[in-house]
Amino acid sequence: MDRFSWEYIKKRLLFFTSKSQVVYTTFLLLIIPAAFLFSSQMFLDVSRNQQETLEEVGITLMLDTLSKFTLPYLNNGDFLQEKIISIAKQNDIIVGFDILRRETEDKEKQYRVIAALDGKNIDELEEDIMARSFYDLVSMEAPYFKMETHADGRHQMVAYPILDSDRNIAGIIALDISMAEQDRTFASNIQKAYIMLFGVVILIGALLIRQAKVIDYAVLYKRLKEIDQMKDDFVSMAAHELRTPLTIIRGYTDMLASSKRMTETDRQMTTNIEVSAKHLNQMIGDILDVSRLQQGRLSFDMKIMHPNDVIHEVVESLKYTANKKGLELTYEPRETSMIEVDLDRLKQVLINIVGNSVKYTPEGSVTVTSYNEKDMCMIRVSDTGIGISSEDQEKLFSRFYRVRSKETEEIRGTGLGLWITKEIVTQMKGKITVESIKGKGTDFIISFPTFEDKDNV
Ligand code: ADP
Repeated sequence: MDRFSWEYIKKRLLFFTSKSQVVYTTFLLLIIPAAFLFSSQMFLDVSRNQQETLEEVGITLMLDTLSKFTLPYLNNGDFLQEKIISIAKQNDIIVGFDILRRETEDKEKQYRVIAALDGKNIDELEEDIMARSFYDLVSMEAPYFKMETHADGRHQMVAYPILDSDRNIAGIIALDISMAEQDRTFASNIQKAYIMLFGVVILIGALLIRQAKVIDYAVLYKRLKEIDQMKDDFVSMAAHELRTPLTIIRGYTDMLASSKRMTETDRQMTTNIEVSAKHLNQMIGDILDVSRLQQGRLSFDMKIMHPNDVIHEVVESLKYTANKKGLELTYEPRETSMIEVDLDRLKQVLINIVGNSVKYTPEGSVTVTSYNEKDMCMIRVSDTGIGISSEDQEKLFSRFYRVRSKETEEIRGTGLGLWITKEIVTQMKGKITVESIKGKGTDFIISFPTFEDKDNV
């Protein structure tokens, strides 16, 4: 396509307008440096004006004093000549310094030079038309300033009236002050300011380009979230759909189990199907809980209650499994205060934690205790099981995290239980922590704030 064809330009324009962030960044890329340039220029102009005004004030003050000093010596040119040479020596910006005395009312030849820094016109009447018109402009009240540009730079030309006691002009002090040095300093400062400005503009440009990337990331992040949502929706739908055939399988295995015509082998196989179906059901339940928790759809029916009865019930329900493994499962209740929880969710949490202890303890015991500590009610589940290394303890409550070791090889699980447990406990304003020594045993501690006061009401 021709680079300058209308089609090409249209396509380019379309690219920019279709990507709002590109337009936005380009706009910022132009507008911010331009604003910076504009404000810097304004600042430089203002400071230059300010500087010139200050200089004028300084010069006026100096000339005011000088004119008063000069008045009695207007007839002593030699003395004044000596003085101006010594003043000019101390101020090397003064390149011209004349003192003129008013001689006559005659407009053509009005002033006689009585002292001059260059010494050349002394005692001569000022003839220069330009100079005279310059002196004519000297008012009685104020000095006259004129900026001239000479070969070596700018010069501030100043004429200041020497007034006598009747406020008539008795003479004039004419100064030629070179601004070259000052202008050089100013120019070098401006140069430095522009270099800084250039740096700042580059920096802003870099930041904006980065910002464009951040916008890209934000778009990407939004897309990822959408995909994540789609995945969650799919998982939740798939889990729901799996439940229906699973319920049918479990129904048939129930029916088979009650059949009288089954051999011992048939019965064993039916039990195996039942165990697997139960396990599958558990997994589907976990997956559904995860998706509900992630979408904030898990509801909590919070009530203030004593936790001991629920703990007792859960421990009793798991005793059969524990005893079958040869484990001693006991509950040692101590005095506890009321806590605010959802009964079913607390049960779910306890079944998971006590169930895990039974699952991951090959021999020994599992002990559950409940007690008050400060203003918290603690439920501690201690086992003498395989234990968890401190490295694994850090990742334990992450989704799908399972400790992979020889001891856990044979034990089935999804790695979702502890994540769900922590989410539920946290949402009920509680805390869950773990203390464990690998090979010795594990303690899971669940705590909830107590509601002693409400109990007493
Ligand atoms: P799983 O379905 O694998 O049991 P969990 O989230 O409940 O998933 O537990 C995560 C991992 O934490 C388990 O795989 C296990 O390795 C470890 N674990 C949990 N409880 C105990 C315990 N009481 N003793 C030792 N290890 C445990």
